[in-house]
Amino acid sequence: MVESELLNGTAGKPIRCRAAVSREPGAPLVIEEITVAPPMSHEVRIRIICTSLCHSDIIFWKMKDPPGFFPRIFGHEAVGVVESVGENVDEVSEGDVVIPTFMSVCGECADCMSPKSNLCSKFPFKLSTSMPRHETSRFTDLNGHPLFHFLFVSSFSEYTVVDVAHVTKIDPTVPPGKACLLGCGISTGVGAAWRTANVEAGSTVAIFGLGSIGLAVAEGARLCGASRIIGIDVNPDKYEIGKKFGVTDFVDAGKSGDKSLGQVINEMTGGGADYCFECVGLSSLVHEAYACCRKGWGKTIVLGVDRPGAQLTISSHDVLHTGKSLMGSLFGGIKAKSDIPILLKRYMDKELQLDEFVTHEVGFEDINKSFELLLEGKSLRCVIWMKN
Ligand SMILES: [Zn+2]
Ligand SMILES: [Zn+2]
Repeated sequence: MVESELLNGTAGKPIRCRAAVSREPGAPLVIEEITVAPPMSHEVRIRIICTSLCHSDIIFWKMKDPPGFFPRIFGHEAVGVVESVGENVDEVSEGDVVIPTFMSVCGECADCMSPKSNLCSKFPFKLSTSMPRHETSRFTDLNGHPLFHFLFVSSFSEYTVVDVAHVTKIDPTVPPGKACLLGCGISTGVGAAWRTANVEAGSTVAIFGLGSIGLAVAEGARLCGASRIIGIDVNPDKYEIGKKFGVTDFVDAGKSGDKSLGQVINEMTGGGADYCFECVGLSSLVHEAYACCRKGWGKTIVLGVDRPGAQLTISSHDVLHTGKSLMGSLFGGIKAKSDIPILLKRYMDKELQLDEFVTHEVGFEDINKSFELLLEGKSLRCVIWMKN
């Protein structure tokens, strides 16, 4: 492939290729020919090998009002090969296998320099529709109209352009159909247990919501050696799935009777779990999680995305008297460029489970099928293969 790109001499020129364009909210994506401009300074053009569908794609695909914008190219969990690079890019070169990520690592700001944060302040996370540095689009349709980017990645296209701060070079021997999962969801869950909470061996963990993110938290907690992992969900079928990722106990959230979920977990654990993770995006569940993390050292970690403006109400008396911590975890607290290679090595060493998250695989022309499967709750991750 790289050879043909060199022979064709695409570097520095626009590339015409196929992309799945979202033209209107909630409508099936349309596979169209588009033009992908060459990378500008500090940018990398990537030929996508495969990409998977994440819930955030669905949320923004359905969104009728800003920050929902159309026409747009979604997709933000992918693996690709560098086709060409713009000026001032030394970190990667043609032929490198990379994972683009919605979170950046500039490597220079106070946050990137600190081991305590993954929130780069030079290129902060925002809901942008363009490139992070030059703030323009690299995509145009055949009528010459620009197409919006999504989360600085836009991987539902045979080629995309990503800022080098959002690119992680990976071991090319890792199967791309598994590596792509680390672009968002699985890194977020595993990282929340590993990097944000820093779960110790022997800990008790409670996970509110066993969707893909909650299951990835379980996987992260299992890797960290947690001895008890309690899954909480309204769907009892999640227990069987959860067991694959280390879930040892299950609470049916619809059957707690007169007791609050917090009370149920407090009783099960004799005073609260060491770590509670909220993976649904409901402030009421954050309250439940906070209520059942252990006094003295318990940590509650928020991963779920609630509606804008949702508030938490926690009594300052409780904060003082219980000594608990409440933390947010964006992208699992992981720094893409250094932590993704560690997670991939742990996958190759058969420690981290990734295969179990891939429930479906489709060709690019069937990309709408992956939306249906996720909407019907039938898939954890569906990998979409470009086969170009
Ligand atoms: Zn930075
Ligand atoms: Zn995502």
